[in-house]
Amino acid sequence: MSNFVETLGFEDLIARTGLSFSSTNFEDIYTQIHQNPKLSNIREELEKVVYDYFKGMELPDEPTIYDHLVLSLRNKDFIATFNWDPFLVQAIRRNGQRFKMPRTLFLHGNVEVGYCQDGHMMGNNGGHCHHCGEPLTRTQLLYPVGEKNYHLDEFISRQWATMADLLKHAFMVSIFGYGAPTSDASAIALLKDAWVSVGERNMEEFEIIDVRNEDDLRETWSRFIHSHHYRVENNFYNSWIANHPRRTGEAYLNQFLKAQFIENNPLPKDANFEELWSWYDRLQEVENAHT
Ligand SMILES: [Zn+2]
Repeated sequence: MSNFVETLGFEDLIARTGLSFSSTNFEDIYTQIHQNPKLSNIREELEKVVYDYFKGMELPDEPTIYDHLVLSLRNKDFIATFNWDPFLVQAIRRNGQRFKMPRTLFLHGNVEVGYCQDGHMMGNNGGHCHHCGEPLTRTQLLYPVGEKNYHLDEFISRQWATMADLLKHAFMVSIFGYGAPTSDASAIALLKDAWVSVGERNMEEFEIIDVRNEDDLRETWSRFIHSHHYRVENNFYNSWIANHPRRTGEAYLNQFLKAQFIENNPLPKDANFEELWSWYDRLQEVENAHT
């Protein structure tokens, strides 16, 4: 967000508002424009540019970290993302032809996702509701952060409610590259409310994957990890998920509850799609045989 204005070439649009801004942060600027009803045309233009910018993004043809992530989780798992870009959905689409994929939540909206306004379903942006046949509504990306009310949006509030419920039952939670910025105060509060109820549980794993140093991370996440197990990795490929793909919970139980030392089974991160998929086939075959 800090260099968004420059990246998306918003200087002219912002100049047209006639306002002076104390911050160069896009979210602050957007919030100020949002507060002024006379600037609704400019606001809509800004929203469109942001939306189109992310909508145009596409994964490269070879396997990416997104492919590795979605292949390493199972259908019982959830990915909740704050990202607007389409990479996660594109990864699920191309790997989902062959593998059962984790389920997803889009906590800040997403350009690939649409939803039925009657609450029947969410699906691909541009598609129709399987229940009532109405076109799916695309999700809103931008909210005035100062008002901290994005969770009042119909689609997003449902995503958050599901997330809160999941956290109450989750056994392992990995936080991947999320800085928990102060502008996300309502998000953090929701997370905390959901997580706090697990205080009496004595088995769960909280993993933070982030390049920041551990002191910073402990500060950011202290409300969640105090009295809980946690580990920090600076790279996804060192994480529990990447070293025990599709078997994270099983590996954890064997290692720490049954005290059986287990070896890592790291995903082949340099493999092409053919190699990658045949590597994961072995894992899914065992899953299929047991369900
Ligand atoms: Zn519907």
